[in-house]
Amino acid sequence: MPRLSFCQHAHFYQPPREDPFTGVIPQEIGAEPYGNFNEKITAECYQPNAEMGNFERISFNIGPTLALWMEKFAPATLDLIVAADKKRLNAVAQVYNHTILPLASSADKEIQIRWGITDFMRRFCRVPQGMWLAETAVDVPTLDALAKAGVAYTVLAPWQAAGTAPRSSAEVDTTKPYVVQLPKNRSITVFFFDPNFSVALHRTSRLTAQQIAQEIFPMRLDNAWFGPRSGQTLFAASDGEYFGHHYPGRDALLRDLTLTEGPAAGYDPISLNEWLDRVKPQDAIEIQNFTAWSCEHGLDRWSRDCECARDNSVPAISGNWKGPLRAAMNRLAEHIDAVYFTQSFRWLRNAHEARLAAIEPLRGWLDWDQFFIEQGSDDFVRAPESLRTAIHEKLRRLFLAQYYRQLMFTSCGFFFEDLSRIEPVNNIRYAAMAIKSTNMVAPEVPSFADAFATDLAECRSVRTGQSGAELFLREWDRAEQLLA
Ligand SMILES: [Zn+2]
Repeated sequence: MPRLSFCQHAHFYQPPREDPFTGVIPQEIGAEPYGNFNEKITAECYQPNAEMGNFERISFNIGPTLALWMEKFAPATLDLIVAADKKRLNAVAQVYNHTILPLASSADKEIQIRWGITDFMRRFCRVPQGMWLAETAVDVPTLDALAKAGVAYTVLAPWQAAGTAPRSSAEVDTTKPYVVQLPKNRSITVFFFDPNFSVALHRTSRLTAQQIAQEIFPMRLDNAWFGPRSGQTLFAASDGEYFGHHYPGRDALLRDLTLTEGPAAGYDPISLNEWLDRVKPQDAIEIQNFTAWSCEHGLDRWSRDCECARDNSVPAISGNWKGPLRAAMNRLAEHIDAVYFTQSFRWLRNAHEARLAAIEPLRGWLDWDQFFIEQGSDDFVRAPESLRTAIHEKLRRLFLAQYYRQLMFTSCGFFFEDLSRIEPVNNIRYAAMAIKSTNMVAPEVPSFADAFATDLAECRSVRTGQSGAELFLREWDRAEQLLA
């Protein structure tokens, strides 16, 4: 009998949970007996999966903001995850802080992708082949930005292919990769996951690993186009946290499925990289712009009201705050960028390229002095020592403002039902940090805080009745006290 294969891609990710003003994660309700959800999910999911060797037998990405936390608080688990990739080359990169790229400017698309690739290379010591898009949110410019950065493939839901109905997987063959043609003869490979197969692996609580391998695997292939063919691959993709955290016991099931029961039934676990090595994508496909795996209304979940994010216990709740919040942040980003470019262009060889490279010193992988040797202009190099120190400090603050300005677009801040939640509040705190860093460099520029507050007056929390402006000014005062 021909060997078949199956691939589970697991998206492991947490947003930055630290209070941006203190750098400390507050005690999180619901995480007991742990201090916060990163600790709880590590104990229930990351650590057991790593210790069981599951990372060696799946395809996975680990979000940079989660990996950064693990460096400090779960280094042994992170070491096991990195070691898994050394054996199998099965890790995939992720856009840096999980920004919804089709809603981001073209400059931000490039930054998120470049910073994500840099994080991957620093961690796994190799160039990534694939990249996970936040919420698999996609449009053609996003795919083109990936291709331009040298990314070979990404993963989408089957209903993100052109001409398909929401939540439908009937029209796309999920057992083979496709190619999407892009402008100027560029292209990118897309793997569409099988949603029913994905759910069977993490959620079907009554079935054992043996039953899944012997019954569900062949059933999914029979349902797939053309029936079983030699070399065919079943493909599941889901949040990695399902395995042990959201669904207790699924970590052990993943181990049994990938280690013993799958192979015994004739299905070998492979990674996306291995799959792409074996099968060259032949068939072209077009994608539906402005779609994601976690919203049935285009990208409304992250930009306006839609029922995906409603809390039905509070009938008045609505996502109407998301549009004004995003618009306010877009305007703020433009103001901050204007200061960045006018203040830095004399001292940098190429301010655009320097911003793409700045994640190295921002994350401490590269000394700032070394960074400025590489990125500084002739004027910077020729400047007298005393002046150079001042310029150095000014540029560092401008780059810090750029870092916070990226973090304020973290998708989780737009994902849920109400403005008063910790996720949007943290994004607003990052905006405050970006404003503060910018104002320190350019005191002659009127504070962007006032303009930002005016813009935020248009959004309001149903839960607290507080407007975005009130919320921001409260946080601004807190920052003044904490950072004084
Ligand atoms: Zn929706």
